[in-house]
Amino acid sequence: MKTCILIIEQEYSSLINKLFPPNSADEHFGFGFAGVSRHSEGFNILLRTFIFADHSCLEKQSGGFIRPKQEFIKYVWELAKNSDSALIDFHTHPFCSKGVSFSSIDDNSENKSFPMAVDYLGEGPHSSVVFGRDSLDARWYDPQAKIRKPIFGIKIIGNRLVTITPTSISRIRGKNNI
Ligand SMILES: [Zn+2]
Repeated sequence: MKTCILIIEQEYSSLINKLFPPNSADEHFGFGFAGVSRHSEGFNILLRTFIFADHSCLEKQSGGFIRPKQEFIKYVWELAKNSDSALIDFHTHPFCSKGVSFSSIDDNSENKSFPMAVDYLGEGPHSSVVFGRDSLDARWYDPQAKIRKPIFGIKIIGNRLVTITPTSISRIRGKNNI
């Protein structure tokens, strides 16, 4: 299943600028609201809007940890429900450059948040992206199989179409020698 996330180039630049503010070694995150279309090999998940979680939305923040306030999560989920959107969770590992991947903390938190998102918002699919300074990894939740699956590529739509390959897919290709 070749499920991809599609982002307009200007939106992508603005999202990266917000998630990696200058002179900050802290983790940052935000939510994307997406529209979804199904195709024969998977889904296209198109980012419509990105909401950055600034200081006022956070309970805790450091270089290796971030926790949003519950009221911010509620607010975002309500907006997603009202706009019939799938959710994309974007966060950073600012200590990592190449080959970034999800941590066990990310796994544990998504073990809860993905099924909750399906219950509250519908099947989506909902997805998540983690950024290192020079790489990204991405995955989506298959509500039928109840497992996370790798996102095949992040497509940046500008004058040219640029596809960024997530770490998980690069590793699968490396193993299979494709
Ligand atoms: Zn993480």
